Amino acid sequence: EKRRWSNILGADLQDLAPATVFDQILAKALPSQVVFENDKVLAFRDIAPQAPVHILVIPKRRAGLTALRKASREQKGVLGEMLVAVAEIVRQENIEGGYRVIVNDGEEAGQSVHHLHMHILAGRPLAWPPG
Ligand code: AMP
Repeated sequence: EKRRWSNILGADLQDLAPATVFDQILAKALPSQVVFENDKVLAFRDIAPQAPVHILVIPKRRAGLTALRKASREQKGVLGEMLVAVAEIVRQENIEGGYRVIVNDGEEAGQSVHHLHMHILAGRPLAWPPG
């Protein structure tokens, strides 16, 4: 029932968290350099790149996924879509030689935008362990 109303209203009734800058990017109210898009996922270049290639992959419907720790089994579809998008972007960007996927979850990990996102970093040597 909840899902039906969600569809009818075109809104997400389960997601009561405040909107983020990514909503503005999704609404095209803020410009972004889109590198990949399908019906589930949007990927665009980070505005403050930490490597020559720095791309963010986000779900179009946040659906309560303010952070990865909020994920439920019902969301495994979109979580899978995000990783498949990463693989497609890696091939498209020619970074098969090496790249890193990062999810910052929580304040101590440096998360600043409360809309799930995966960082793709490449184009320079990536130290291990990360900072
Ligand atoms: P995190 O710190 O893991 O939450 O990552 C949020 C990322 O969003 C940071 O790397 C920011 O540079 C990036 N970011 C913030 N605003 C924008 C924007 N308008 N366009 C592109 N990337 C952004």
